[in-house]
Amino acid sequence: MERANGGVIGADTEGKRYSFINIEGNRRLATVNLVPGSQVYGEKLVRVEGVEYRTWDPFRSKLAAALLKDLQDPKIKVGNRILYLGTSTGTTASHLSDLVGHSGVIFGVEFAHRVAREFVERVVKSRGNIVPIVEDARQPEKYIHLVEQVDAVYSDIAQADQTDIAISNCRTYLRKGGCLLLVVKSRSIDVTKSPRSLFLTEAKKLTESGFDVKQTVELTPFDKDHALVSAIWKG
Ligand code: SAM
Repeated sequence: MERANGGVIGADTEGKRYSFINIEGNRRLATVNLVPGSQVYGEKLVRVEGVEYRTWDPFRSKLAAALLKDLQDPKIKVGNRILYLGTSTGTTASHLSDLVGHSGVIFGVEFAHRVAREFVERVVKSRGNIVPIVEDARQPEKYIHLVEQVDAVYSDIAQADQTDIAISNCRTYLRKGGCLLLVVKSRSIDVTKSPRSLFLTEAKKLTESGFDVKQTVELTPFDKDHALVSAIWKG
């Protein structure tokens, strides 16, 4: 357990459970640990004014990378419900689980069985606020019996039709005014086109499908050829 040197900038106000912490002169992003004492991927545990935080690694989590690259606060709050497409083994999902707290829920969709098993062992078992769903996100109707209307959809599935998959899940589950956080991996769409032109094309698709696109944040140097697009569902 480390002690933060310098305290918290933008502390835990308005139900916000992430902060920038100074550790030995370095500004680090961190979330309030839902399960004090436990780590998920070797991240540091840091205590500030009696609250335990887990450092959030931007090289391991694209949402952390986007926040460090000035993504406007997506306003994920305690008690929110989030549909997460492509959890993999749960690095980012664990931080979202911290953000929504015990009264929130993460519905985590992952179609690779072995990966989903690791997600359950590594993350779901120790946290009471994640519902794992082993399904293909191309078929949102398959999990209609498990998922309620959500406040946000986080999508990171590295498929050529990644944006269409996110849109169909938003149509099914996202509340009006809710937020889509869409990771766009340009190399999964077309290796011959420039990443920036593909980010524009995918953002345009969202606009044409009923979203108000707020920001497109390129994730270099943390992740090459990736951007995170944030958009509000107009319903
Ligand atoms: N979001 C993760 C994180 O930050 O820790 C990393 C996600 S990784 C880039 C993409 C994941 O999406 C993989 O685990 C893959 O198996 C999953 N995936 C890809 N296509 C999918 C689909 N159609 N339905 C569900 N999961 C999918």
